[in-house]
Amino acid sequence: MNDRPSSLFDYCIVGAGVSGLALALQMMDSALSDRSILLVDGAHDDDALRTLSFWSPRPTALDALVRHRWSSLVLQSNDGPARIELASEQYQTLFFADLQREAKRRLAERSAHLVIEGRAERVEERGDHCEIHVNGAIYRARWVFDSRFKRGELSVDTTKWHALEQRFRGWVVRAERDHFEPERATLMDFRTGLPAGTAFFYVLPFSPREALVELVTLDPVDPEPVFEKYLASVLGLDWYEIVAREAGVSPMTEQPFDLRVSEHVRAIGIPAGRLKASTGYALTRILEDNAAIVRSLSVFGHPFERQDDSSFYRALDAVMLELWQREPARVPAIFEAMFSRSPDRALRFLDERASLREVLALIAPLPPAPFIRAMLRWIGRRLDGALPDRASSER
Ligand SMILES: Cc1cc2nc3c(=O)[nH]c(=O)nc-3n(C[C@H](O)[C@H](O)[C@H](O)COP(=O)(O)OP(=O)(O)OC[C@H]3O[C@@H](n4cnc5c(N)ncnc54)[C@H](O)[C@@H]3O)c2cc1C
Repeated sequence: MNDRPSSLFDYCIVGAGVSGLALALQMMDSALSDRSILLVDGAHDDDALRTLSFWSPRPTALDALVRHRWSSLVLQSNDGPARIELASEQYQTLFFADLQREAKRRLAERSAHLVIEGRAERVEERGDHCEIHVNGAIYRARWVFDSRFKRGELSVDTTKWHALEQRFRGWVVRAERDHFEPERATLMDFRTGLPAGTAFFYVLPFSPREALVELVTLDPVDPEPVFEKYLASVLGLDWYEIVAREAGVSPMTEQPFDLRVSEHVRAIGIPAGRLKASTGYALTRILEDNAAIVRSLSVFGHPFERQDDSSFYRALDAVMLELWQREPARVPAIFEAMFSRSPDRALRFLDERASLREVLALIAPLPPAPFIRAMLRWIGRRLDGALPDRASSER
């Protein structure tokens, strides 16, 4: 039962981004549906995240919001296309705007909830609850879920962990005539014209005329000429209109993150380490983490009970980051080899759902030398200190 004094919320979610909005929905759809939620929405115009993709063999908490699903994918390298037919997994995309609309609509249905626009300036512990300072006012909540994250403030100990960045630029393009195959998405296309393995495009066709074309790079690049060349020379689009854009940068590190920010504050989303270091995908891990919060609150009365991330997969992430950083030209062939036998297994592996047996079957056909080199370098790094970055290591 919700017996709070009028100004004490059960939960405060700081940040109306992916993890915050999804957590609000997951709480309202759970045994916690009678609790009160304060959502602090500090979104800026530069939070231009428009599409969210993931894969799953079964419905998820955001199933109703999924706009597009694909079972046919393609992976493109300079050597040609590798077609991927999924059996149990489905690649899926939803629009961030739908998540935002739905979470806010549901919150508005109960007067116990409140959405305020503004940046949380401070969150302070006050005995059995927290005070959240927003727009000069003070709000109180028993538990705070904090998704605030500033890239520049992420302090990665580079003597132990990698600190790469994945840069996303997305254009939703509309062609004059039917051009795309809506039933087949491009998972990775390495034909970017940039140094091998340092960048790829993915293409999500929403209709025969409209698609999201997203460029992902490890290094800062001027995206316009790369897009123009790709759209004209590779996709063969002689005329297109850009109807929307998205952009952002994600940190790629295997460094563990602390869930507990303070006594009553629990990190969520990227600050809770939900971004998979070697892939840049986070949505599935965010939904799982949010489900763990709901479970922990329901069973234990606090939000901190969660199964630890697998240290085995963390080590594999580190080796993969080592390859991205030092031998990126190897990466396209590795992805191709992983997907060539059992694409469903490869997706399970990337989501850390593959069994040890599946992982061994997946790794066995890959060329061992780059992995052994990367693993030795990683071990050396843990023993000796920081490794040089890619540029200096190539000199
Ligand atoms: C361009 C791009 C595309 C991506 N695509 C995918 C994808 O397809 N699939 C996938 O799985 N992952 C994807 N990711 C990775 C990841 O899912 C997203 O970065 C996701 O937004 C992470 O969720 P989050 O809640 O941690 O952060 P955010 O969604 O960024 O939410 C944090 C929120 O906190 C707000 N905030 C910050 N400071 C304050 C404050 N002081 N007070 C109040 N609010 C504040 C911010 O404005 C923001 O709205 C993508 C990332 C980027 C950058």
